[in-house]
Amino acid sequence: ASLAFGAAAGTPEGVLARVFGYPAFRGLQKRAVDRVMAGGDALVLMPTGGGKSLCYQIPALCRPGTGLVVSPLIALMDDQVAALRQVGVNAGALHSELEPDEAARINADLNAGRLDLLYVSPERLLSGAMLDRLSRIELSVIAIDEAHCVSAWGHEFRPEYRLLAQLPERLPSVPRIALTATADPRTRADIIDALAIPDAELLLASFHRPNLHIAARPKGSELNQLLEMLQRHRGEASIVYCGSRAKTERIAKSLRDRDWPAIAFHAGLSPLEKRAALLRFRSGEPVVMVATIAFGMGIDRPDVRSVVHLDMPDSPEGYYQQIGRAGRDGERSDTLLLFGGEDMARARHWLEQSQAPEAQKRVMSQRLESMIVLAETTGCRTRALLQCFGETLERDCGHCDNCRFPVATFDGTVAAQKVLSAIYRTGQMFGALHIVSVLRGKQTDAVKRHNHDQLKLYGIGREKSDTFWRSVIRQLVARGALRIHGEYSSLALHEEVARPILRGEASVMLAEDAAAALSEAAAPGA
Ligand code: ADP
Ligand code: ZN
Repeated sequence: ASLAFGAAAGTPEGVLARVFGYPAFRGLQKRAVDRVMAGGDALVLMPTGGGKSLCYQIPALCRPGTGLVVSPLIALMDDQVAALRQVGVNAGALHSELEPDEAARINADLNAGRLDLLYVSPERLLSGAMLDRLSRIELSVIAIDEAHCVSAWGHEFRPEYRLLAQLPERLPSVPRIALTATADPRTRADIIDALAIPDAELLLASFHRPNLHIAARPKGSELNQLLEMLQRHRGEASIVYCGSRAKTERIAKSLRDRDWPAIAFHAGLSPLEKRAALLRFRSGEPVVMVATIAFGMGIDRPDVRSVVHLDMPDSPEGYYQQIGRAGRDGERSDTLLLFGGEDMARARHWLEQSQAPEAQKRVMSQRLESMIVLAETTGCRTRALLQCFGETLERDCGHCDNCRFPVATFDGTVAAQKVLSAIYRTGQMFGALHIVSVLRGKQTDAVKRHNHDQLKLYGIGREKSDTFWRSVIRQLVARGALRIHGEYSSLALHEEVARPILRGEASVMLAEDAAAALSEAAAPGA
């Protein structure tokens, strides 16, 4: 690279100190840099905020030639370029939203070999003209950022990334470094395969983020649960993830009505609205971003103090990335996941209906099931989360909700049998509300209309509260003993799992739901 500091800008450590002002490499950065300096390929997996950028920026500045960075988002490119220019690096991005004279300037620098780093989208990189141009100049390194986008199994698949397989042929003998914050082994294998970097050195950082205090709770009154969390972080920045666009609008409005500085963010906004929302979020003022997962890549506000999920993500990878947007400054931050049996059943249902190829559906379904286990776990949640990425925590984290308030479990076999029988005896066509009425012996219209007060099991759950029975039903859904179907969210048995329970061949340990325990206490003998 040409660097204003003179050609052959020096050693990686020298550039790190002189250009970026850092005294030392962090974690695996040094190994990644050394590998690329030596002309080898690498795959770097580091959590968000781990310092991936320097892994390619330093070699780009130390090796002769221009560093090429493939990046999926314009906002992401612009941020990086601005930061690099600030420290005197000649960086540029070529994308569709560029002013023509700016593009001309970058192109001129590129052709003259004056550009240190060039950011491009995969589609632009692989257009014929661009490849021709690049094959005529010297390249120091090719970095593929957000490399998980290449994986069709991943949660952020971008078909354009597939085309990057052509790189070794089109731009041979340039070291390639792929970087991502998504660590699951399947995606890892996919990246190596799709980018054709079989000899890449795998650099896998720990994904443990000790400053994140994670918690999950069954969904009750979601707005109240949300407000309780936001209250703890008044005057700070929070992100609230919702499962649909409409819901982000609705929740943002409810918050604004209560004087919270909330903005909705989703893919349906115009580019102008998006920009305005992002600008406000980045400005540093307190703001509650109510968003779909469209809000994600490239936001690097360091002081997000809480992340709340009002709907369950469909994979631990997605969940990890989203909560990872909290506390990038290393300060204590809180995350809360709200989950409900219906969400879980609905997610499973969508998967079953999906037109995706069988193999892909299988992987997606494994991810979903891991996510459900994570939500329902009674053990250390941090440990369970890291386990999804093949990382074993030595000890319990000590600060997740389950570590701080250990969850009591009880033998729920009999309760489970009562629920399963009630569902079976009423024809597997009613939702949770009705099943609870039957169990508790309530004289509702529906109970009378269907003569369910004539059933032998009518009222066999009288001694427990509604909340208790809802919790049992939810946990049976989570474990796959029940499924929810049809437009009325009817409950039905999943024979394979339910039958052994009904026959007394399998016992069921259930978590004592804090909310259920409370309402038990409040309603003795109800
Ligand atoms: P990632 O791309 O992995 O999310 P970044 O490359 O954006 O992470 O780096 C995250 C933050 O850490 C940035 O503010 C960066 O300047 C800082 N950082 C990276 N490496 C070092 C280092 N060796 N010493 C000090 N700060 C660093
Ligand atoms: Zn823990």
